[in-house]
Amino acid sequence: MSVGRVVIVGGGIAGVGTAAALRTGGFDGEVTLVDAGEFPYDRPPLSKDFLTGTRDLKEIALQPPQWYDDQRVRLVNRTAVTALRPRDGAVELADGRLLPADRVVLATGGAAARPPIPGADSDRVHVLRTADDADRLRLALSPGAHILVVGAGLIGAEVASTAVRLGCQVDLVDPVAVPLAPVLGPDLAAWLHGLHAKNHVTTLHASVESFTERSNGIEARLTSSTGPRLYDAVVLGVGMVPCVDLARTAGLDVDRGILVDAGQMTSNPAVLAVGDPARVRDEHRAEHWEAAQQDGARAAATLLGAAPPEPSASWFWTDRHARHIEAVGHMDTASDTVLRGSFDGPSCAVFGLRDGLVVAAASVDDPAAVRAARRLIDRRIPADAARLADPSVKPRDLLRG
Ligand SMILES: Cc1cc2nc3c(=O)[nH]c(=O)nc-3n(C[C@H](O)[C@H](O)[C@H](O)COP(=O)(O)OP(=O)(O)OC[C@H]3O[C@@H](n4cnc5c(N)ncnc54)[C@H](O)[C@@H]3O)c2cc1C
Repeated sequence: MSVGRVVIVGGGIAGVGTAAALRTGGFDGEVTLVDAGEFPYDRPPLSKDFLTGTRDLKEIALQPPQWYDDQRVRLVNRTAVTALRPRDGAVELADGRLLPADRVVLATGGAAARPPIPGADSDRVHVLRTADDADRLRLALSPGAHILVVGAGLIGAEVASTAVRLGCQVDLVDPVAVPLAPVLGPDLAAWLHGLHAKNHVTTLHASVESFTERSNGIEARLTSSTGPRLYDAVVLGVGMVPCVDLARTAGLDVDRGILVDAGQMTSNPAVLAVGDPARVRDEHRAEHWEAAQQDGARAAATLLGAAPPEPSASWFWTDRHARHIEAVGHMDTASDTVLRGSFDGPSCAVFGLRDGLVVAAASVDDPAAVRAARRLIDRRIPADAARLADPSVKPRDLLRG
């Protein structure tokens, strides 16, 4: 093949996944991975056991240091790519150096969103996207500290759960009464949101209007409350903003993400994009770990001229209050749901159905049910609602129809 030098910009799971898939697929050219951080590390632990201090940065490395030599992946760390120079066949680094590249893979991830709430630029207002953010936040989560978590979606709920575990007094505010209902289905989402109160998190149904620094904390004004509330720290868990500046400046098509085709190719055939910032036209951007990794596998296949991996329904996991949640597919497209087990039992799963097929599933402490649902979705196996609902039918037997 004619591609000799691939430069990957960004060392998250999408970038490292691309490098790994290139080598697994037999790519023999040069692979350079440029990352702004100290070394590529995994992000999901940042709101879980890295935040509690149970695991340190080295323990959440995406690959051990030796892997880069073994796989002949040149890691250029603590360095940002500042410009793409497709016409020169190179990328430009922050120190002005040019790295030659036949193909560039943009794996630049995203930054935590900071909504324009007055006072949100205070040092007491945290976000969580990087290990540095988590280190700073951990210092604020001291036992007894009064913490406001803004946003009860995936990351906000995880941070609230970790913060109570660390002994903080936590308020969790969201303008949506039942967060994640479109993703998990209204019943499971409501039960999961209710889990916060059972675990000593106070849930508030409101928006934040402003923050004001005081000598002894930070005051938050909420739309629903009678007066300001004083906190030691605030955590914003309100989503992420994809890093698209390099793509935009290089003239690539950008629209709520870097637009890519089914093989991760951008509007410039020398540049591919993967992970959180990449978006296939007419689809939503996925912001989940496995989707980012699979983008890397698809990009590698494109670069190798190989068949792309079989597509599979989108999947993610999240953890809160010692419960493990997994979800697959698109629950908001279901016309009917089936409950397996009971919400107050040791585990349960909800299957979303449409036209006799499973289109989604979500589970609490029942990953096997979601694995089975994924196969039912991918293979379009007709679903039998009574068997889906019956916990005595083993998940793998659901595939037998
Ligand atoms: C706190 C937290 C918890 C999460 N938990 C879960 C979970 O439980 N389950 C789940 O499915 N997903 C979870 N996610 C989402 C998941 O981690 C992301 O979808 C995934 O990390 C995206 O990977 P990525 O490689 O696209 O981007 P990122 O992980 O953001 O990596 C991008 C990398 O690019 C680097 N970079 C950016 N610009 C440049 C540049 N110009 N030059 C050099 N380097 C650059 C950045 O420094 C970064 O290292 C979580 C995310 C967070 C933040």
